[in-house]
Amino acid sequence: MKEYQKDDIKIVWNQELCKHAAECVKGSPGVFKPKDRPWINPEGASKEEIIATVAKCPSGALSIKKD
Ligand code: SF4
Repeated sequence: MKEYQKDDIKIVWNQELCKHAAECVKGSPGVFKPKDRPWINPEGASKEEIIATVAKCPSGALSIKKD
């Protein structure tokens, strides 16, 4: 499990659940960059966009934690 802070939320990624459907990459290409390390860049989109994109993750690998 990895966590990435964005304002007052955290993007949580559970690698074991990720099915690589790439919904995250389509939804927010500035944030979810599979070729980069770390592959999640919280500065790449607004908090609202990130929340909407995370909601589309089909496997539950991505989730949002509120501080
Ligand atoms: S949308 Fe979810 S399952 Fe698909 S690549 Fe992104 S994190 Fe993985």
